[in-house]
Amino acid sequence: MNAVDAFPNAEIIAVGSEMLTPSKVDTNSLWLTESLNALGVEVVRKTIVGDDRERLVETIRAAFGPGKIILLTGGLGPTEDDVTRDAAAAALGRTLVFSDDILTWLRERFARFGREMAVINERQAYVIEGAEILMNERGTAPGQWIDHEQMHIALLPGPPNELKPMFARDIVPRLEARLRKTFIRALFYRVAGMGESDLDQLIAPVYTKYTNPVTTILASAGDIQIHLRARCDSPEEADALLHEVGRKIEALLGDRIYSRDGSPLEVIVGRMLRDRQATVAVAESCTGGMLGQRITSVPGSSDYFAGGFLAYTYAMKTALLGVDPEMLAKHTAVSDPVARAMADGARERTGATYAISVTGVAGPDGGTEETPVGTTFIGLAGPNGTDARRFRLVGDRARNRTFAVQTALDLLRRRMIF
Ligand code: ATP
Repeated sequence: MNAVDAFPNAEIIAVGSEMLTPSKVDTNSLWLTESLNALGVEVVRKTIVGDDRERLVETIRAAFGPGKIILLTGGLGPTEDDVTRDAAAAALGRTLVFSDDILTWLRERFARFGREMAVINERQAYVIEGAEILMNERGTAPGQWIDHEQMHIALLPGPPNELKPMFARDIVPRLEARLRKTFIRALFYRVAGMGESDLDQLIAPVYTKYTNPVTTILASAGDIQIHLRARCDSPEEADALLHEVGRKIEALLGDRIYSRDGSPLEVIVGRMLRDRQATVAVAESCTGGMLGQRITSVPGSSDYFAGGFLAYTYAMKTALLGVDPEMLAKHTAVSDPVARAMADGARERTGATYAISVTGVAGPDGGTEETPVGTTFIGLAGPNGTDARRFRLVGDRARNRTFAVQTALDLLRRRMIF
């Protein structure tokens, strides 16, 4: 058995055809996932189902399993397309019974607002046989709780402002009373300077030996995140497991790990510059200001960011950064000497401790045989000299530019470590 299955698991089923359109997002399941995780419950599947009774019956049945917690949200309204009560009753093989208590409560609620209750609202007074009724203080759709065989099933209203208080008041205590107490702890690494498959090849022999913690790897242009989540009976046990696996991963990745607290690279580089009382300037071509944007997105970056040059054409590389026109003519703008000259020019003109330059062919056009699309040079000038590195990026224009910025920041970080 997977270690995760030894602990309580939940499935969330969001009901509503509007969430299958491009304009409406199922945010309830994100909120519910966070709330369940806080109780030590892992969400193992989320489903969105339109207002279709038969499909919903199938979906609910597919979620059945010993010890399962099944949370349904939405579809509890009074109209024909509110199918959750009906579908849940059918899936459980129970009947719907009319609750006079709910009818009285609904009538009083409408009266309080000075309104006549429509006949269709009576549909909201049906509850699944044996269910506990969860009163809704903010709407007309009552929730329901059912302990069925070894499972726990809740029907909750769709509107987030109705769902959240009901979950806190009625679901949390019920789950706490029924579940073995578990704790979820997480470790979070961010890694730069390597590709996802290289990273996976390196650390898979470690993390595949463990089903607890669960390891997830997320990658985007030049930035990889490794999440480890441990679930145990005590926080100490979870921390110990994380430490055991984390230590092995850290030993393999070394200084390629740039963050252990989730902070992005621009924040880490900013902290390092501030600690060293150093400053940085940028000279950008193909990234068109994105590097300066990333650095200055951090509050307080004026402590260490001197400024930048956006030198796109040959003429501007010469005018702004003093790049020799003969060098440009001989080597082209996307070349090692020009990347160095751009970094040197930016450093001299700003007096910054470091200067980073980026010059490349972001694509999709503009490549040549010698300098194909994706070729990018990143130059770095600092107190210990100037160098440049060539990269061959393989994404589309947006990805290449993002990757170039991430790589430039990482080169600066590495220069400051050594
Ligand atoms: P009510 O009777 O109050 O309408 P209901 O349970 O029938 O409750 P729905 O009709 O399914 O709820 O949804 C009402 C509204 O709640 C939707 O239009 C949408 O704005 C919001 N909503 C429903 N489900 C979700 C969800 N999963 N995430 C975010 N918002 C949701």
